[in-house]
Amino acid sequence: AASFDPYKVRADFPILQTTVSPGGPKLIYLDNGATTQKPRQVIDAISRYYESQNANIHRGVYRLSQVATDLYESARRKVQAFINAADEKECLFVRGTTEGVNLVAGCWGRTKLKAGDEVLVSTMEHHSNIVPWQIACEMTGATLRVIPMNDAGELAMDDYAKMLSERTKFVAVTHLSNAMGTVNDVKTIARLAHKVGAKVLVDGAQWVAHAPTDVRDIDADFYVFSGHKLFGPTGIGVLYGKRELLEAMPPYMGGGDMIESVTFEKSTYAQLPNKFEAGTPDIAGAVGLGAAIDYVTSIGVANYVQHEQDLLHYATEQLSAIPGLRIIGTAKNKGSVVSFVMDGIASLDIGTRLDGEGVAVRTGHHCCMPLMNRLGIPSTTRASFAMYNTREDVDALVAAVQKVRQESNAKVSRAAAANESA
Ligand code: PMP
Repeated sequence: AASFDPYKVRADFPILQTTVSPGGPKLIYLDNGATTQKPRQVIDAISRYYESQNANIHRGVYRLSQVATDLYESARRKVQAFINAADEKECLFVRGTTEGVNLVAGCWGRTKLKAGDEVLVSTMEHHSNIVPWQIACEMTGATLRVIPMNDAGELAMDDYAKMLSERTKFVAVTHLSNAMGTVNDVKTIARLAHKVGAKVLVDGAQWVAHAPTDVRDIDADFYVFSGHKLFGPTGIGVLYGKRELLEAMPPYMGGGDMIESVTFEKSTYAQLPNKFEAGTPDIAGAVGLGAAIDYVTSIGVANYVQHEQDLLHYATEQLSAIPGLRIIGTAKNKGSVVSFVMDGIASLDIGTRLDGEGVAVRTGHHCCMPLMNRLGIPSTTRASFAMYNTREDVDALVAAVQKVRQESNAKVSRAAAANESA
């Protein structure tokens, strides 16, 4: 851990050397929960692919097609090692977390659920881990139930344990909350679910870039993540599923590459993983994701966990000292996400003002409208850190938020003075 140097890592990311506009402030990128920036190594791998390795995969007899196929399948093996899956065939390439959840809710949910069954999701789920389950429940007559949380944003594990019964068929929870930073005890969630025979999907979108991932240790039945939040390109992500579950599920999309044989009377399907990868996939995306995995593996994800925790604690402490600022999400176990609201200032105004200082943060409901309802707020401002962020980035954020506070106070006192003289 002592050997991790965020300044050295930063140098690999071209965009972090830029200003937000010509002659404008330096970019302080704190929206890593939305997407991460890409290192030169990933950008180069994608360029190299299109410059000298591009061909369609799994079909050409010629050498170039074999090169592209090898690259694509070697990216799959990198994914397998990265999440410690037992078999590379359990790692399917999809467009991202959203498609991964929809695949499971569609192929598993719509075929296995029936009236009287229950699907559990948590209060803090992203819309992409709610809506696909609502659709599956509407189509099958199953019921969607919600695991509650306390005011700190921690799941109520006792309540969860009580909700489980032989009716529970599926539990879908996030590993790390994008809106509050809460880390959920997914290993315990899975163990309890398995006791009643339910299957478990873990949304790893916010986790994989920030701490080591071990799908077998969690004993997740399904685990999903997006390449673009792991320093890789957009358009590619991973659905991990246990082999026997994937084999028992019907295909997601029909088309080329997912079949064994086709006649007008009947088609038979290919083995895993091809069965779930109809059509020409995002080959360059897989190559880029493979390069991103190589990149973080060479640094060692475990080596920067402490650095991100240090940024989290430093930012929390500095921001908490600003009058009228309240941190949203105060769980004991948190990832490097700091969400907050400020008295008398709308999140959108905070975000717009910070943009003027070069500080990129997210404002809004973070695709978690039910969570915002539970919290009784419309939105938050969220700073989310990655390994390449530094204490100077936190200082820039805090200074900008302090400015927003002072300007707002000045406006309020001018209004009060005008009121008195009137
Ligand atoms: N789940 C969580 C927790 C997320 O943070 C996100 C992205 N904001 C998603 C799912 C959806 O990911 P994507 O848009 O890449 O499919």
